[in-house]
Amino acid sequence: MASKAKAIAAKSAKSKAAARKYKMYINGEFVEARSGKVFPVINPSTEEVIAEVPEADENDVNRAVAAAKAAFNSGAWPQTTAQDRGRILFRLAERIRKEAAHLADLECRNSGKPIVEAEYDIADAATCFEYYGGMATKVLGHVNPVPDNALSLSLREPIGIAAQIIPWNYPLLMAAWKLAPAIAAGCTCILKPAEQTPLTALEFAGYLTEAGLPPGVANIITGFGEGAGAPLVKHPDVNKVAFTGSGAVGKAIVKMAADTLKRVTLELGGKSPNIFFADADFEAAIDGALFGVFINQGEVCSAGSRILVEKPIYSKFVDAMSAKAKKIRLGPPLERETKMGPLVSKEQFDRVSAYQEIGKKEAKLAAGGGRPSSMKHGYYVEPTIFYDVDNSARIAREEIFGPVATVIPFTNEADAIKIANDTPYGLAAAVWSRDIFKAFRVVKALRAGIVWVNHMQPTYVEAPWGGYKQSGFGRELGPWGIEEYLETKQVHINLNEQPIGWY
Ligand code: ADP
Ligand code: MG
Repeated sequence: MASKAKAIAAKSAKSKAAARKYKMYINGEFVEARSGKVFPVINPSTEEVIAEVPEADENDVNRAVAAAKAAFNSGAWPQTTAQDRGRILFRLAERIRKEAAHLADLECRNSGKPIVEAEYDIADAATCFEYYGGMATKVLGHVNPVPDNALSLSLREPIGIAAQIIPWNYPLLMAAWKLAPAIAAGCTCILKPAEQTPLTALEFAGYLTEAGLPPGVANIITGFGEGAGAPLVKHPDVNKVAFTGSGAVGKAIVKMAADTLKRVTLELGGKSPNIFFADADFEAAIDGALFGVFINQGEVCSAGSRILVEKPIYSKFVDAMSAKAKKIRLGPPLERETKMGPLVSKEQFDRVSAYQEIGKKEAKLAAGGGRPSSMKHGYYVEPTIFYDVDNSARIAREEIFGPVATVIPFTNEADAIKIANDTPYGLAAAVWSRDIFKAFRVVKALRAGIVWVNHMQPTYVEAPWGGYKQSGFGRELGPWGIEEYLETKQVHINLNEQPIGWY
């Protein structure tokens, strides 16, 4: 016992020594929390502390909002042209690409995602900055055809100060989705990364000054939801809240934002159906079902976690999918052959493990169901497949946010649509069939913001992203993404000698 305690103490001392101390970024400077408090950041594969970051509280939030407010109202930022903002975003993209190997390595260590996926995400983050760099100069106003001798204009203006709260599944990419359109629009922002995964955003903060962004335009604060997120959402000087995360916190945010009528956009979870008709290409279907639900360890808001399969192929489908799931290579995320790493945190591991146990009571288990015995430490869970799942089961209704698939049989097109839409969520869906007419009928009947046909998950910065129903409101990416950071101002210029009036 004593020697075990000694070993643990030695291990934590060792990881403390290796832990890098980060600061957060407010008003163009790297700073500690006013309280001096810090919290540890864990590598979910080794369970070691890899960094310490400041724990922001209300005082730090106030400081960051004051900086964002000052930058919005005075100094260099309000004077910048759309071209200036575009160039800054291009420089940020270039820097991300230059540092891609380092950023991917850090993302991988902090989130547990496989290195190959981390590399995709970092490249996607750069693409997002490039896209909105180009879009900065394409924001157009209108001339309104009023029936008078006048020039009626609609101008697009930045919405103001934006609070941006993001989750831990795609850390730098989610930061890019939030920061790039806000900066392109001319807003100022306070970004709060998830407490589990703040490192790539803090690394990225170091690029901002060099790219020419004036102090206070983008602030990045680290802290917890209650301590830092909530005061940010409630702050009266914040004009807009953009949130990606859980449904429960999304609902709390809408309530907190209501007092000061902030603009809110929410991208929440889902329980997305991935629908397979008997006429689909079978091999492609199996791969698509696995990829749809297990990519990024299933820690994906659009995970195809309800796999609906037409009865004639149902048994064969469950068998083939399970056989292949058992061969998915789990392992240390930095190894290039690894297809699935650990979950992000102990908390997430416990949550997913609990759902695995619930599933064993509610349905039949075809693959996985626990922790892989091959991994000695780390928050690993096996890719898990339940079948003969009833759509009313908890594992079919509640978002698990881990590698747990539920396979549900259906009898025909109408049945598939009914089951698919029988969920409080409406983020994403996919349909697999060789019959394009049928596939498109189903596409139109699905109540979801993103519908793929004959694949699932590819996401493009050019196309809108967001949900129906309880998956949130507002759209990110594409021209929709910048819209959410713009106000519309009507300007009416009288061209008559005399203004219209009665007095
Ligand atoms: P999960 O619990 O799955 O990690 P959350 O929705 O709790 O998902 O977290 C997503 C983001 O929301 C994180 O950045 C987290 O710190 C933040 N957050 C959590 N609770 C609150 C809250 N009450 N107010 C504002 N932000 C919060
Ligand atoms: Mg939470």
